[in-house]
Amino acid sequence: GCPGRLPELKGNIRVLCRLRPGTPSSLVSVEPGPGGTVTTHYRGRHRRFRLDWVFPPDASQEEVFRELEPAVLSCLHGYSVCIFTYGQTGTGKTYSMEGPPEDPGIAPRALQSLFREMGARGQHRVTLSMVEIYNEAVRDLLAPGPPERLAVRQGPEGQGGIQVAGLTHWDIPNLETLHQMLSLGRSNRATAATAMNQHSSRSHALVTLTLRAASPQCAPGTTGTLHLVDLAGSERARKAGETSAPRGDRDGARRLREAQTINRSLLALGGVMAALRAHRPHIPFRDSQLTRLLQPALGPGTTAVLLLQISTRPEDLGETVCSLKFAERVG
Ligand code: ADP
Ligand code: MG
Repeated sequence: GCPGRLPELKGNIRVLCRLRPGTPSSLVSVEPGPGGTVTTHYRGRHRRFRLDWVFPPDASQEEVFRELEPAVLSCLHGYSVCIFTYGQTGTGKTYSMEGPPEDPGIAPRALQSLFREMGARGQHRVTLSMVEIYNEAVRDLLAPGPPERLAVRQGPEGQGGIQVAGLTHWDIPNLETLHQMLSLGRSNRATAATAMNQHSSRSHALVTLTLRAASPQCAPGTTGTLHLVDLAGSERARKAGETSAPRGDRDGARRLREAQTINRSLLALGGVMAALRAHRPHIPFRDSQLTRLLQPALGPGTTAVLLLQISTRPEDLGETVCSLKFAERVG
């Protein structure tokens, strides 16, 4: 039947933190678990950050998913859920979201869990879309042709009605098709990245699953949505020496522009989450393509989970503190 029990959701925005495995450092210390903390020792200053959950460096993919599964399954009851991986490049965002085939991450586990729950009885109609945002350009990763830039428009029903002109939505009859489509999207992302001479960590990747209840005991017409968002690396522009590029350095100029647009869109995401958290009357959704696209998924009544990925390496400490400050602002 239809899963009857409503999963318990612990608040609108939850912030979880996962430490990348590596040499333990005295500069970053943690108390793992629920309500855990991360303490940084940076530039002579101790800062303690409290999060909804802290996963130590040896946490398994399964442990991470266990914390997310109730939110994922709530989509079957018509909830809208967004799961983000946030952090500096190299801290494990893609590892957590996708994972290697032998140790799958959040996305494959979430899909498996949803399909298991739905059973073979076809109570839901599942559709999938997949886009990438690079330099504020939105591209369909599942379009049959070469990925072209799509226009994002305010839909007719006003607030929350966002239309991405030409975006393809695919019917997903079973888990196998879903995995095939996802790997197609992933390879299109890599191909597009190579063609534009960019690394895929410079773009945001959004997977959206829509679940429409079809059987009577599931209140037909109820639609749940799951967004899985692997964000572009959050490192600040100046760290990589990208704040100014010499004249004629086209590669440097491109990297600078990339870094600035990424910083701006992550700032916009933080701004939206902070405004939602403070119940402000104006939520600045329009500040970036990322927040415009996710507007329907971040409004009232939705659940967002931010999985903050951090490094303990001494040379990354500045970025680690920045990421934790971002979490503090939104969580
Ligand atoms: P990001 O997407 O944040 O740039 P990646 O997910 O690509 O980072 O991770 C960088 C490297 O670290 C990859 O080789 C990845 O396999 C490895 N890695 C990250 N997190 C873990 C982990 N928890 N366990 C094992 N390897 C990890
Ligand atoms: Mg990545």
